[in-house]
Amino acid sequence: PQETAASERQVVVAAPRGYCAGVDRAVITVEKALDHYGPPIYVRKQIVHNKHVVETLAERGAIFVEELDEVPEGAMVVFSAHGVSPAVKQEAKDRGLRTIDATCPLVTKVHQEAKRFAREDKQILLIGHAGHEEVEGTAGEAPEHITLVQSPEEADQLDISELDNVAWLSQTTLSVDETMETVNRLRKRLPLLQDPPSDDICYATSNRQAAVKQIAAHSDLVIVVGSANSSNSVRLVEVALEAGAKASYRVDNAGEVDPAWFEGVESVGVTSGASVPDDLVQGVLDLLTEHGYPTATEEKLTEENLVFALPPELRRDLRRDT
Ligand code: SF4
Repeated sequence: PQETAASERQVVVAAPRGYCAGVDRAVITVEKALDHYGPPIYVRKQIVHNKHVVETLAERGAIFVEELDEVPEGAMVVFSAHGVSPAVKQEAKDRGLRTIDATCPLVTKVHQEAKRFAREDKQILLIGHAGHEEVEGTAGEAPEHITLVQSPEEADQLDISELDNVAWLSQTTLSVDETMETVNRLRKRLPLLQDPPSDDICYATSNRQAAVKQIAAHSDLVIVVGSANSSNSVRLVEVALEAGAKASYRVDNAGEVDPAWFEGVESVGVTSGASVPDDLVQGVLDLLTEHGYPTATEEKLTEENLVFALPPELRRDLRRDT
């Protein structure tokens, strides 16, 4: 294969990338809970969808469970950033578990919108992916009012004969463009479709997609760092390809990068999903230098300064006991 001259090569790392305010808060919540109450701290589902973060917290004494029946009576359990349905909260109460809710406030906002539309007796089309924890949590707020729409194609196929007084909501981590396409197709069929009061796709998801679009336009290869079950990371690969990258791959860490991807590649773009610690991105950048690429330059689209306060139940205990 043709080797590219080192001088023509370039690496651009996108910004914003990596940790969002909701992930930061959720991870700090588990760390502080471990420090303050001592292990074990149970966490229902992965606190955030990143393998490395989960493994690191597990080493410190967090125990990740799928469902609450795996948590012993009276133990402390943290709900993940993706949110839980009211049924899960009730189950925790019934079982006498102590809980800390690390649901991202931007997911809670979507839950509130679902509850309000349901109170107004609206039917809700929830755009999102079946089986994703966030969708299960949001749908659980008003199961009898919600119908899931997973793609623009499903919007075309939806049986609208029974639909009346309809609003739409979405998962926070979808592709902005694909979601707009789904909404446009729904609106063609349901002209009175009501919008959510504000965007459900969160600032972090849209900023990371806008930033990857910018670097993808001039990249032969875009590497996205993020775990396979991270919705926003998987979307970044799709967005990079749509925006003109010749190839794009998702990796959990540098160890998953296949050097064969570099054949004939001059420009490499790198970014990461909202649940990814930046040292994993640094690992990929180091690997690129080992393969003869220059030090990366950063292309920053916008600043992010949002910080969320820790869950009130944790803040209260931290204040009281120190
Ligand atoms: Fe919250 Fe968005 Fe981060 Fe999800 S991706 S935790 S909704 S800020």
